[in-house]
Amino acid sequence: MSAFSEEIMRKVYVRQKGRCALCGRSLDWLLKNTAMHSFQYHHVMPRMTGGKDAEDNCVVLCTDIDPVKGDSSKDGCHYRAHADGKYRSGVVAGPEMFAFSHGHEYARHELWIRRVRQAAL
Ligand SMILES: [Zn+2]
Repeated sequence: MSAFSEEIMRKVYVRQKGRCALCGRSLDWLLKNTAMHSFQYHHVMPRMTGGKDAEDNCVVLCTDIDPVKGDSSKDGCHYRAHADGKYRSGVVAGPEMFAFSHGHEYARHELWIRRVRQAAL
């Protein structure tokens, strides 16, 4: 669901020295040693409020890190950024919209878009 190019994702990963932008842990280490199976390239400013698919609007965050719970996507920093409703100064979709913005109900993305537009008012 990320719209960032391979090149931008590579640059962001290098810029952050392979670490999550929020917790600072090594993403490689998390992949090898926890149940985390992916990490997330996150738009600081959402696309629908004008955020660009550009390097300076991109951070990489950990996700899926709890090895015990199995279904653990809510424990990662990516989820937390959304749960807080912001990443730094950027407004992002709230947790109730997470499934629509990034999860299995991505097809209903419109709901998330409306939520983001309201939050940005
Ligand atoms: Zn993290």
